[in-house]
Amino acid sequence: MDAGLIASKRLEEIAKCSLPGDGVTRLPFTDEHKQANTHIAGWMKQAGMTVRLDAAGTLIGRIEGQGARASRTFILGSHQDSVRNGGMFDGIMGVALACQAVEQAFAEKGEPDFAVEVHAYADEEGVRFPTALLGPRSLAGSFDAHVLKMRDTENVSLEDALEGFGGKPETIHSLKRNPDDVLGYLEMHIEQGPVLEQENLAVGTVTAICGIERNTITIHGKTGHAGTVPMQGRRDALVPAARIVAETQDQARKLENLRATCGTLSILPGAVNQIPETVSFSLEIRSPDDAARDSFRSHMVDYAHRVGEEQGCRLTIEKTYEQPAQDCDPHYRRFLEDACSMTQGRSVSLPSGATHDASAMAELCPIAMLFVRCRGGVSHVPEEFASSEDMEQAIAIAARFLRAL
Ligand SMILES: [Zn+2]
Repeated sequence: MDAGLIASKRLEEIAKCSLPGDGVTRLPFTDEHKQANTHIAGWMKQAGMTVRLDAAGTLIGRIEGQGARASRTFILGSHQDSVRNGGMFDGIMGVALACQAVEQAFAEKGEPDFAVEVHAYADEEGVRFPTALLGPRSLAGSFDAHVLKMRDTENVSLEDALEGFGGKPETIHSLKRNPDDVLGYLEMHIEQGPVLEQENLAVGTVTAICGIERNTITIHGKTGHAGTVPMQGRRDALVPAARIVAETQDQARKLENLRATCGTLSILPGAVNQIPETVSFSLEIRSPDDAARDSFRSHMVDYAHRVGEEQGCRLTIEKTYEQPAQDCDPHYRRFLEDACSMTQGRSVSLPSGATHDASAMAELCPIAMLFVRCRGGVSHVPEEFASSEDMEQAIAIAARFLRAL
């Protein structure tokens, strides 16, 4: 059977490791996760790797290096968990394809001169606990022990869940890798967007993982009776808010690599016959270019204050979250673009608008990512789909890349 069909078959099998219901629901440190790890361990062994579970619950397959760079390790990885009622590709496909790429790269030409590991991280989606990326953060040394006290909706702490799964919460700090020992990291992931489908290409090279910031904009006006307060002189807090939401889209549309969204909005007092007094809404900005994100933010801050003043409203903007963009390694990108051109005739590069395990690994070593075409651009739903043919291309490209390292 060819590699693409094997990948499809494996993903269909492991999709059964799920809570009942539509699509795949596989949360970290559960029975479904345990069953999934049995499948993944089989894939790793098939590729000639020895298998172990680390203290943070990451399943690790490893081939020792047989040469000059034997003390250094190249890591391929992705996450095993899903969102609720998600698809059968997001995350787990990256683990399956990594095992097959290692098998294809080294089965015939012998062992690599550096060590190779495939990692299946426990949690990237952050569905069960209000935190994520425990595995890669442990390796990068950015793990925060406070998260171990976080609890799921059943009141089980992350610490207890991990311990019950066979992890060792008390020794997570010892997982931190020495950057000198790690060559780099490659992650393969379903695109979760429409670009590759539009380009009519199976696989694309990721340029950078977008930086993200979230702001809360609050506008204070003055309420009053909708029927008795004259229109002239009203201080309706929703009016500047509406202008800011429209400007967010208008301005972002002028920029190539920027996404901006107002995704939540609350209105007080929130009644049909009362003028809005306080309106609070979110402004999320993403870009692979931190400077572009900063200048967009400045424009929006100036605009917001201007339209707030015009309406006689007071306005505050608070940044509630920020993570910088992470560039993919230019050297690895070139290798991947060459491997893409050789395998599928041409290559296309695109940024990632979503965060991945690779964002945490970027704090440890150079990172690289490949996206695989996604039908209809949809992800995190049961309809999520990548074809056998496309996965076969991704395996071949990653295998070429590994041999070129
Ligand atoms: Zn994912």
